[in-house]
Amino acid sequence: MHSDCIFCKIATNEFDTEFLYESDEIVAFRDLNPKAPVHVLIIPKRHIEKISDTNESDALLLGKMINAANIIAEKENINDSGFRLVFNCGKDGGQEVYHIHLHLLGGRSLTWPPG
Ligand code: AMP
Repeated sequence: MHSDCIFCKIATNEFDTEFLYESDEIVAFRDLNPKAPVHVLIIPKRHIEKISDTNESDALLLGKMINAANIIAEKENINDSGFRLVFNCGKDGGQEVYHIHLHLLGGRSLTWPPG
């Protein structure tokens, strides 16, 4: 828990955030400024700054985050229409919050490549 990290505070439910998914290691909640009709952030409870800070020992956790995204996509009825999973990493990756989060985006046709 990093006291100055907004996502650590969300993970410990300091703001009474509605969780779409929760396990002992992971929580998921809606993005405050959604870029698509469905925009959910899946985060580990453990503070990890950047996806580039992870290694093989985090493989199970990262796999569980993808599994959580699949479960949420099904609940949000975007399994058939499709969706996108994104980790932004560092300055050029457009990362704003330095606690890793997997974006789940869907509910509209997404363009490629991203801006
Ligand atoms: P990134 O640019 O990948 O770091 O994405 C950070 C995301 O977190 C953005 O889409 C923000 O809209 C979202 N965000 C920032 N603060 C909050 C918050 N308090 N609750 C929910 N989403 C947030």
